[in-house]
Amino acid sequence: DTSHGPILYVEDVSVSFDGFKALNNLNLYIDDGELRCIIGPNGAGKTTMMDVITGKTKPDTGSIWFGQRIDLLKRAEHEIARGGIGRKFQKPTIFEALSVFENLELATASNKKVWYTLNHDLSGEQRDRIDEVLQQIGLTEHYQQEAGALSHGQKQWLEIGMLLVQNPRVLLVDEPVAGMTGEEVEHTAQLLTSLAGRHSVIVVEHDMAFVRSIARKVTVLHQGSVLAEGSMDQVQNDPRVIEVYLGE
Ligand code: ADP
Repeated sequence: DTSHGPILYVEDVSVSFDGFKALNNLNLYIDDGELRCIIGPNGAGKTTMMDVITGKTKPDTGSIWFGQRIDLLKRAEHEIARGGIGRKFQKPTIFEALSVFENLELATASNKKVWYTLNHDLSGEQRDRIDEVLQQIGLTEHYQQEAGALSHGQKQWLEIGMLLVQNPRVLLVDEPVAGMTGEEVEHTAQLLTSLAGRHSVIVVEHDMAFVRSIARKVTVLHQGSVLAEGSMDQVQNDPRVIEVYLGE
């Protein structure tokens, strides 16, 4: 068991858009080092949940704590990103004209202050970390390749790598396997499960077979709050969950 108690506390969080409650008293506790999958029908509030955790949207009510001391509602989006909560969007934001290594180098430096960074003045420690991340994401042999020439799956892994070089405590990953080949899906499952323990990983994903293959614990969102939580077998056999998915 990799559990060391919660790293992220989302408590009674509500968000309204023009009177419509996208999140409605959401309560979510993510353990340090766990891999959690979040599922739910369209409009359930999954994106809004990621937006409030990362500071992109501030809730109307409720609280969000990072560890026991850091009140995320008092932090701006860029501070939260720098403070250890990384987010991978569906659409890659890699620099296609740069090499795989240069993309990782740039992501390493963006942790600090520099924008004039591609002068290869990384510390030994940073270089080691990039090498380690290249191994993790399976792109060691491609480090000199132009990022634009990578496959769809490789681009997604590079994007995850660009977050990993910043050593996030929590990693939010939005639909990681959309559009991937079977082999790429398998590699992504290995990658994400290997990150748990060292990072907390929150995966929002529609592909149920994939969720089943990686998740120990699944949270089902519906109408902005938690409908069910447990193992994949538990939630899939929950009559409320079945009703929600059949009604989609
Ligand atoms: P999911 O990611 O689970 O599909 P979302 O969090 O995107 O759900 O959306 C939850 C609900 O909130 C949806 O009904 C959506 O239309 C609404 N919503 C989300 N963002 C906005 C916004 N910026 N303005 C108005 N409505 C929004």
